[in-house]
Amino acid sequence: MNRSPRLTPPRPEPYHVADMNVKSETVANAKNAASSGGSEGRENLLGRSVPELEKLFHALGEKPYRGKQVGEWMYARGATAFDSMTNLPAALRAKLNEEFGIGVLRERSRRETPDRKTRKVGYEIPGGGIVESVYMSTPSRHTFCLSSQHGCAFACRFCATGRMGRGRNLTAAEIVEQAFRLRGELPPGRSEYNIVMMGMGEPLENYEAVVDALTLLSDPSGMAVPPKRITISTVGLAPQIVRLADQGLRFRLAVSLHAATDAQRSKLMPVNQRFPLEQLLRAIRHHVERTGRRVTFEYILLEELNDSVADAARLVRLVAQLPCKINLIPYNPIGPGKFKRPSPERIERFAEYLRPRVPAVTVRYSQGVEIGAACGQLAGETET
Ligand code: SAH
Repeated sequence: MNRSPRLTPPRPEPYHVADMNVKSETVANAKNAASSGGSEGRENLLGRSVPELEKLFHALGEKPYRGKQVGEWMYARGATAFDSMTNLPAALRAKLNEEFGIGVLRERSRRETPDRKTRKVGYEIPGGGIVESVYMSTPSRHTFCLSSQHGCAFACRFCATGRMGRGRNLTAAEIVEQAFRLRGELPPGRSEYNIVMMGMGEPLENYEAVVDALTLLSDPSGMAVPPKRITISTVGLAPQIVRLADQGLRFRLAVSLHAATDAQRSKLMPVNQRFPLEQLLRAIRHHVERTGRRVTFEYILLEELNDSVADAARLVRLVAQLPCKINLIPYNPIGPGKFKRPSPERIERFAEYLRPRVPAVTVRYSQGVEIGAACGQLAGETET
């Protein structure tokens, strides 16, 4: 991994697939192959809201509605070049080409499952470093898993991103662009998708940028994703959970719980020492009350560590009375270490205990384990 990010934006380089562990057919089909992204020193317009674009065009001496047109081309139609914006005068398009760009991320790696249902894309960010985004599909739904930071400071013991340590916060524009790029992967005729902030990083530590990005993604004049299709997943930063609720933001909340006692949780997630369960649960209750949305608890199943029936019983007590859903995630291996995924029988026994006792339970076998795209496996490993 590159530990000394460049301070100046990287020189333009041709797109290449750093990771050869993909079907060659997949590479040939790569939608982003032609567009390397990258405004290359020019100012980036992707990630600006329509009112911001209108202001900018006004300042440029253009009619403000040109800003609205550019916003529509990018957000509603997915335009990646000013030349395709055919209702703009040619002279304006030429000027935009000179001074502005659409997007800053450059695709540097791609791994796909043979059925192409899961695709992990590594994007180089300005200043250096790779962040990963994951496209996941089932016949009925498409989900984009986005990163909020390059690296993560929270050091959850079971998570590969946590081993990278703190990296930089992504900007709102860089977060929006991940969704913009993955939208280009949808099959023809499909336009609905979900967004989960479950990639690299802790979204609520990069609060402003994440909220700005999700606000633009959900804005009808932006990418128009309904807030109920957007989920923020957090290690449990209680004050920021309260802040989300008090700001009236109605994105869905998922909390990485993973243990039902402070002793157990602190061992797995050091953040629990800062925000122990009682404080965390209070914040979550506040969020549920303010937003009227149920909360999702993520619970990794780790053999012999948190997967006994006694653990399940403690979990039931902890979340009693809360409108919630529990997502059980069998541990995805991230290299040598003390953690193991429990047997299917133990997983089923845990789920069976919960089912009649909590409002909803799912066992989420993550997609893309074989390409390192599953929960906890993102670490920009293709970085050189
Ligand atoms: N920082 C946020 C966003 C990351 S979301 C958060 O912690 O919620 C990624 C989800 O995958 C989290 O629930 C995380 O705890 C879980 N996860 C991390 N490592 C994992 C692993 N090895 N196996 C399964 N799930 C894992």
